[in-house]
Amino acid sequence: MRDRHLRALAVFFLALVASSLQCLAADKKATAGPKGGKLLESIGAHAEFVIGKDNRVAIIFYDENLKSVPVSGQIVSVYAEPKTGKISLTMEKKDGALVSKEPLPKPGFFDEYQITVQIKAAEESKTESFKVRFDLDVCGKCKLQEYACICRR
Ligand SMILES: [Zn+2]
Repeated sequence: MRDRHLRALAVFFLALVASSLQCLAADKKATAGPKGGKLLESIGAHAEFVIGKDNRVAIIFYDENLKSVPVSGQIVSVYAEPKTGKISLTMEKKDGALVSKEPLPKPGFFDEYQITVQIKAAEESKTESFKVRFDLDVCGKCKLQEYACICRR
């Protein structure tokens, strides 16, 4: 009788361990941005970095459930860093998001340059920095553009 109880307890614990391992694995899997862009997960904000068809950068903010929320006090700086020199993009409010006034400079041949996004969730928050590669090729696995690819994260 006592053995059976022990066994039941052991099965219960194993199931518990298995389910929490599953949770850990699920946590590790990267989520695609709702608009097909790259999710920038920071401590103070959930934001998505999107390169639009016109090569303009858009930053969209979300709540914890990935419901879009209009930009409020967040301070965002976006820098393009092609070989020809670093450029700061002017971010303007548009339909609740932040959209760059200028398009990203066209990359030169084999010059898929880096883009740096700095987000300050609020005046008193510290600035968080994200690096994104300007690569618009489509990934064969996740079908997202390479800058937003979730396969290797
Ligand atoms: Zn991918």
